[in-house]
Amino acid sequence: MDLSKFKISNGKNFSLSNYKTNYTGDVDSKKKALKLLEKHKKKMAELQDKLYAHNKYGILIILQAMDAAGKDSAIKHVMSGVNPQGTQVFSFKQPSKEELDHDYLWRTTKALPERGRIGIFNRSYYEEVLVVKLHNLIKYQRIPEEFVTKDIWKKRYRQIRDFEKYIYENGIVTLKFFLHVSKDEQKKRFIERLENPAKNWKFSTADLKERGYWDEYQKCYEEAIAETSTSHSPWYVVPADKKWFTRLVLSEVINKTLESLPLKYPQLKEEELKNIKLYKKQLLSE
Ligand code: ATP
Ligand code: MG
Repeated sequence: MDLSKFKISNGKNFSLSNYKTNYTGDVDSKKKALKLLEKHKKKMAELQDKLYAHNKYGILIILQAMDAAGKDSAIKHVMSGVNPQGTQVFSFKQPSKEELDHDYLWRTTKALPERGRIGIFNRSYYEEVLVVKLHNLIKYQRIPEEFVTKDIWKKRYRQIRDFEKYIYENGIVTLKFFLHVSKDEQKKRFIERLENPAKNWKFSTADLKERGYWDEYQKCYEEAIAETSTSHSPWYVVPADKKWFTRLVLSEVINKTLESLPLKYPQLKEEELKNIKLYKKQLLSE
């Protein structure tokens, strides 16, 4: 698959309107996609094993999207083949009182993946330039007035870029996915949540209210992606009208990224290598 179709390494001239929500490339059926996903999952398990053993790099996967775009199910389906010991998932909702007592990167920084692990953020510090900007929630953050200036969002983009560069230079590779769903598809999924008793619990009137701000959210996403796409922490705008295609893209990006790292299984120390036969003999003679 040509992943460059979805990848934004430089936000110059970025426009969401150039990205289709229902694109599926040459993967023309769900059946084909599921087969490929299974293959990718096997590969991912191997690569994750190596990442864990190598124990130097961490992978941070950020998922952002409008409601019902499929973040939760993408995590479930894409990551189900990997060793749970090597992954961590954190979901970020409205900040708690304790979280509001800190700077906005505090809660996510605490949750960054350890070396050797894959960390998944279901929503992230990007909410700080999305919902917080859209609903002007900055007033609840108790930032001293002199810092709450007109260019506060520009400053936040810069802070986020700096932060991502900092973690990159310390061995954490960040992959950012925007699950790009259409307004029509969201409507269908909300209706399904209302009609299917097993999905009722997913329905929330708050989601319906946020849907009313659809265009404003799209603009916020567009600006945030344009401002924070870099070669070391690119955004991927992933078509999300077909969930099976979203999952395929995610699994392929994750695998390609892992493959690009110089991962190696650690070797025994020279002394131990020399004595390998001896240790084996010792064990066999028990
Ligand atoms: P689902 O797809 O199941 O609806 P979700 O990620 O939307 O999952 P919810 O509990 O429905 O989870 O919503 C979390 C809400 O918290 C979102 O509306 C999000 O915008 C909001 N949120 C996240 N971070 C912040 C933040 N820093 N400040 C304010 N609101 C936030
Ligand atoms: Mg929600």
